[in-house]
Amino acid sequence: MVKPCENEECGKPFIAKRRDTRFCSASCRARAHTLKNRREHLLARSGAAARVEVVPPTTPAAARLERRVRGVETALEAARVEAVRGLGELAAELRVGREQAAEVVAELSARVDAEVAAQAKRARAAATEGRRRDVRIREIEAQLLRVTTVLTVLEQRLVAVEQAVVVVTARLGATRR
Ligand SMILES: [Zn+2]
Repeated sequence: MVKPCENEECGKPFIAKRRDTRFCSASCRARAHTLKNRREHLLARSGAAARVEVVPPTTPAAARLERRVRGVETALEAARVEAVRGLGELAAELRVGREQAAEVVAELSARVDAEVAAQAKRARAAATEGRRRDVRIREIEAQLLRVTTVLTVLEQRLVAVEQAVVVVTARLGATRR
C-alpha cells in the first residue's frame, strides 16, 4: 500500500510492506524518533513556552501556500463538475449519433435490398433469355436433323435409281447380243 512517510521532514509517498509501517526508510524512522524525543524533552523542561515554540508560526509564505492549495482544490472541483457535465452532453451526443447511424444503416440496407432485387430481376431475365435461346437452338438442331434425314433418304433413293439404271442397261445389252 502507498502511504506518506510520517517523518514530518520527509512526507514522501512510499510503498509500505506492512500495514503498520510508518516511515519510508530506517533513517526517516530514526529522524522522527529524534524529533519526537527532542520535542518531548523541551515540553517537559519548559512547559507552555516550549509548546509555543514547536507549533509552526503562520508565515506569509505559508498563508500564500494555503490559499494556493485552496485555489487548486476549488479548480479541481470545478473541473470535476465540468467533466461530469461534459460526459452527460457527450452521452447525449453519442445517443443522437447512434440514432443517426441507425437511420443511415437502415437507408443503406434498403438501398442495397433494392439493388439486390434489381440484380435478381436482371439475372432472372437473363436466365429466361437463355432458356429462350436454348429452345431456339434445339429447334434449329431438330430442323437440321430433319433436313439431314431427308437428304439421307434422297441419297438412298438416288443409289437405288442408279442401281436400277445399271440393271436395265445390263438387260438391254444382253438383249442386243
Ligand atoms: Zn521518509
